[in-house]
Amino acid sequence: MVEAVIGLEVHVELKTRSKLFCSCSTKFGSEANSQVCPVCLGLPGTVPALNKQAVEHAVLACLSLQCEITEQGGFDRKNYYYPDMPKSYQISQVFSPIGKEGELTIDTAHGEKMIRIRQIHLEEDAGKLVHEGDNIASAPDSLVDLNRSGAPLIEIVSYPDIRNSDEAVAYLENLRSILRYVNVSDCRMEEGSFRCDGNISVREEGSSTYNPKVEIKNMNSLKALQKALDYEIDRQTDLLNNNERVMQETRTWDDQKEMTVHMRSKEAPDYRVFPDPELGLLKVDESWKSRISKRIPELPAEKKRRYKEQWSLSDYDAYILSRDKNLAAFYEQAVEHYHQPKKISNWIQAELLRLLNAERKEADDSPVLPEQLANLVALIDQGEISGKMGKEVIEIMYEERKDPRKVIEERGLSQISDDSALEEIAEQIVEQNPKPVQDYRDGKKKAMGFLVGQMMKATKGQANPKKANEILREVLEE
Ligand SMILES: [Zn+2]
Repeated sequence: MVEAVIGLEVHVELKTRSKLFCSCSTKFGSEANSQVCPVCLGLPGTVPALNKQAVEHAVLACLSLQCEITEQGGFDRKNYYYPDMPKSYQISQVFSPIGKEGELTIDTAHGEKMIRIRQIHLEEDAGKLVHEGDNIASAPDSLVDLNRSGAPLIEIVSYPDIRNSDEAVAYLENLRSILRYVNVSDCRMEEGSFRCDGNISVREEGSSTYNPKVEIKNMNSLKALQKALDYEIDRQTDLLNNNERVMQETRTWDDQKEMTVHMRSKEAPDYRVFPDPELGLLKVDESWKSRISKRIPELPAEKKRRYKEQWSLSDYDAYILSRDKNLAAFYEQAVEHYHQPKKISNWIQAELLRLLNAERKEADDSPVLPEQLANLVALIDQGEISGKMGKEVIEIMYEERKDPRKVIEERGLSQISDDSALEEIAEQIVEQNPKPVQDYRDGKKKAMGFLVGQMMKATKGQANPKKANEILREVLEE
């Protein structure tokens, strides 16, 4: 048996108003080259000034991933030329990453698993090349947009502890969840604020040696990442089984062809790294660190545990409700309003998430508010409407942004619990169904279910089932 050895490098754009070393805006989607200045354009003679907020975000990310913080470090220059980086060096942290030796626990098919984090370092982003026709090989021209140049990033480097594509996806989902909880990034893969490269090799299961690894780039969604890793595991396994050599190289994921393709042979370039002489030391002392650590809220893993212990949710339900910060907030507000955690969990997962997912909306954009959902569940519990009707009501609440009671009144949806109305219907049912009635009177109690069903049908589901049962029984016993 062959196993995969995967390590991931994740670039996360930090949520700051300005760039890492200048005051230009980091807003996404503006006109090309409208958010630039001499510093991020790399003009000679400019001096960078470090953004304190970016450092605090980086420290916050490190602490929430259990990293040790480097108390005294700095920035280094990685020298290389590329058209999206006019100053021909990238400011990064090569010698003293701000965080080291962290960890992240993920849920796998075989229980929980800890993935170690080697380091987290701060660095500046490069600009973006825009190829005409989107294809670098056939583009007649390429253009440069430097709006992103100098934007603050952290790069999170894992140890090669990941063994398959499912674990890789779980790692990224958990990582994204935590970074959103501590509010240091939007982590939007489609906008490029959460980007992932992978290093992958395969070996005999249980072996402790490493075969040559392949780096994969351009995995732009979780789906692409999963497919790319699976493809690469198969490709390398075939090579190994045929006694062929795996070449150390960088490959890119081609979404159209659904395969990884050779990009360049991987010989580590010599970046001639040296400490940036203009930025000086970066010190994160104990008191600053402790002030930042106070900003860490209850994280998804703790929330999940609490939902299970305090509110008796299943492992799965607790996971779904805790992994997204906004959904967890929605859930907790609804429970605060009407303390039925299990029922509210069911309504969120079965109905609300279905409606939100259909429109690719997130919980904080929900047209149904937490207290409205809580009210709906309460109305069902009080017998005002049936659960079946509740499903209809929540759809109208969602479309028309209305309170459940208003929807029920406007559409005349409340259950018929009026005795005299139900009595009349019960009498008709008894008259129209002599055979089941006779069966019931002969002691076949099952016939009752059929008769109640007829009543529900006659009232278009608006009868209160418990009431319908009682009244039918009375009429039958007359
Ligand atoms: Zn600038």
